[in-house]
Amino acid sequence: MYCINCGVKLADSEKKCPLCGVAVFHPDLIQPEGEPMYPNNVQPVPQRPSRAAQIVMTTMMLMAGLISLACDLQISGKVTWSGYVIGALLVGYSMMVLPFWFSRPNPVIFVPCSFAVVGAFLLYINLKTGGDWFLGLALPVTAVLGVIVTGVIALLRYVRRGQLYIFGGAFLALGLFMPVLEYLIYRTFSLESFFGWSFYPLIALVLFGGMLIFLAICRPARERMEQNFFI
Ligand SMILES: [Zn+2]
Repeated sequence: MYCINCGVKLADSEKKCPLCGVAVFHPDLIQPEGEPMYPNNVQPVPQRPSRAAQIVMTTMMLMAGLISLACDLQISGKVTWSGYVIGALLVGYSMMVLPFWFSRPNPVIFVPCSFAVVGAFLLYINLKTGGDWFLGLALPVTAVLGVIVTGVIALLRYVRRGQLYIFGGAFLALGLFMPVLEYLIYRTFSLESFFGWSFYPLIALVLFGGMLIFLAICRPARERMEQNFFI
């Protein structure tokens, strides 16, 4: 016997589905008494790291930052390499620990925040090394990637359908950004030639994104794909 709602296999003695709670009904079966196949109370699986793990992670990263700073100051008398260590720790923290302090971290908020932290870290490296690549290269690249990723996440979260359009569009946008990226690198570092490598990722990404959108539009092709790949 199977649940009419979710399809899970049930013992004949089951009165209702232990998974989805739908009452079991089979016109030809008299329900005998007997051991149910599944326990009655299913423990919910914890979805996020515990508060204790959060506190341990925070303390460890804080210690790592402070020890690096102390060593750096002891050895060189000023902030040199420890600045990069602390910056990298902040980037890691903003991505892997900070969101989970909230009970339901919303990626539409914390993903752009992580990109902002990455941007700030790159600005710090740029200023510290006396480079002039931040405004011309790092800032636009971080911003464009941040907008694309946040856009995909926001659409997936709030639209909840048309995933093929969303991913297809993202790959197209990424592909079209490749020549821009090459141009920014070319301009920032005053390179000799322009229009070289970016052509290949452009073609690959546009083809892949275009294929996803084609599958989204063309229902028979999509069904064939689903049959072939079980997706
Ligand atoms: Zn069920």
